[in-house]
Amino acid sequence: MSGVSVTEGAKDAAPAADSLVVLSNVNKHFGALHVLQDIDLSIARGEVVVVIGPSGSGKSTLCRTINRLETIDSGTITIDGKELPAEGKDLARLRADVGMVFQSFNLFAHKTVLENVVLGQVKVRKADRAAAEQKARALLDRVGVGSQADKYPAQLSGGQQQRVAIARALAMDPKVMLFDEPTSALDPEMINEVLEVMQQLAGEGMTMVVVTHEMGFARSAANRVVFMADGKIVEEAAPEQFFSNPRSDRAKDFLSKIL
Ligand code: ADP
Ligand code: MG
Repeated sequence: MSGVSVTEGAKDAAPAADSLVVLSNVNKHFGALHVLQDIDLSIARGEVVVVIGPSGSGKSTLCRTINRLETIDSGTITIDGKELPAEGKDLARLRADVGMVFQSFNLFAHKTVLENVVLGQVKVRKADRAAAEQKARALLDRVGVGSQADKYPAQLSGGQQQRVAIARALAMDPKVMLFDEPTSALDPEMINEVLEVMQQLAGEGMTMVVVTHEMGFARSAANRVVFMADGKIVEEAAPEQFFSNPRSDRAKDFLSKIL
């Protein structure tokens, strides 16, 4: 692993014409709760967008709609120019383009670490088993847990398990990676080892949407910070601008509590 440095090029925003993920006028309700309100968000290829905001503002729901773990009531979501359909074969294929890493790792407890990273490749991508194993070992090496391949998830630390979860998502060759508070369940000493892997991915040009409270990561890895409150995107800006000069009262109030 090559530490936390990110190449300067990763900081340049890609042109809007090269949008990989586009949400247009997306609305979603949970009963009477209007959890996503007229969300417009365009994510460029290679861009790293950090989403922050108070608890309950809709950040997780936003992530979950991008790979249709949640349906939407109106609006459209396109991934690489293709609109996410409500269901069917196309949905499975499009969803495989969107890697997701959760707060709670969600590894298969009864499968080895290696098998966790092999499974989706064989089942969803129809990869040859030997090739899938080779790729899994390379990915596990890349996130620094190659020596843990034959263990079961419960035998690993939280930080190691989360890095396996990242390797598992990467094994599908996703076009975009979504991270929903990937370090929130970790003991403090394990947070950096996960952030370093994410920082490395960002530096390699992966398109990423990251919900996190790690403002150091936001400052160093994000091209853009999106601030959500009450189901709306209240403000978005480059991190240096957002953190030094937030425009909205909601963002000022939020930052005063966490910084
Ligand atoms: P965040 O990730 O920003 O904390 P969430 O997207 O998890 O926010 O939740 C936004 C709001 O939607 C919260 O009020 C939450 O209670 C509600 N919510 C989330 N998931 C569901 C669900 N499956 N059913 C009903 N309400 C939900
Ligand atoms: Mg959440």
